[in-house]
Amino acid sequence: MAGTALRGRLTWQIAMVDTVTDETARVRTIVLDVPQWPGHRAGQHLDVRLTAEDGYRAERSYSIASAPGEPVAITVERLDDGEVSPYLTQELRAGDELELRGPIGGYFVWEPEDDGPLMLVAGGSGIVPLRAMLRHRQRSGSAIPARLLYSSRTLPDVIYQSELSRYADGVEVTCTLTRQQPPGWTGRAGRVDAKLLSEVCWPAAVSPLAYVCGPTSFVEAAAAGLVGLGYPPHRVKTERFGATGGR
Ligand SMILES: Cc1cc2nc3c(=O)[nH]c(=O)nc-3n(C[C@H](O)[C@H](O)[C@H](O)COP(=O)(O)OP(=O)(O)OC[C@H]3O[C@@H](n4cnc5c(N)ncnc54)[C@H](O)[C@@H]3O)c2cc1C
Repeated sequence: MAGTALRGRLTWQIAMVDTVTDETARVRTIVLDVPQWPGHRAGQHLDVRLTAEDGYRAERSYSIASAPGEPVAITVERLDDGEVSPYLTQELRAGDELELRGPIGGYFVWEPEDDGPLMLVAGGSGIVPLRAMLRHRQRSGSAIPARLLYSSRTLPDVIYQSELSRYADGVEVTCTLTRQQPPGWTGRAGRVDAKLLSEVCWPAAVSPLAYVCGPTSFVEAAAAGLVGLGYPPHRVKTERFGATGGR
């Protein structure tokens, strides 16, 4: 794997936390000052390493939330029984140091030169690298039309809510809420299934390029659904965050 090979050549470095911003009750964006950052592409991730006082180390991967050219940012969802995410979302403060290496990955990346309308499908924190792609599209002045289908449990769980509501000029955002819809909700309800995909996604006939990201089970179901709609498998790029709950 390209990402694995690349990782071997990367060195760990110390970043400084610039700002922390709560996105939802469980999700926080951490903007980092990384002195040796070589630049990144939209969709890549980085590794964070925490070292306890007794020397115990834990490493986790986080997608880069910012567009190329913006300060490095990650957006972390807290898993209450997790080892690393509670520290990143509850303890880490501006001015703290964080050990990281990156950027990592050459497959789940999007460039404005890539052909075809952009189809983004996210579950939960899987929105993070797709947000980097939308920001990159906007900052680069790309006119490629984009659609985002974003699944969250409830409205308060929607990450980057105000940013997503501001996209215009060729970007269509559809949110679906799987657990609870507030009164007057005009978005979709229920899980991402074949019917919802067929109603919201670009038809295969226009040769879209799709990126699917989120918990493993979500990604597998959504990617299979897109292939079922006629998307060629090589035009459906996937990033799995692990078994971090159902949506
Ligand atoms: C490429 C990539 C990009 C990612 N990007 C993001 C991102 O942008 N944002 C984000 O929030 N996350 C992202 N993740 C997920 C992230 O790497 C972590 O997995 C996540 O933050 C959880 O880490 P944790 O240490 O808090 O939880 P962990 O300690 O790893 O635990 C995760 C879950 O597994 C369970 N678990 C742990 N060990 C066991 C065990 N032995 N048996 C049974 N269950 C167990 C825990 O109870 C918990 O529910 C990404 C993952 C990948 C691979």
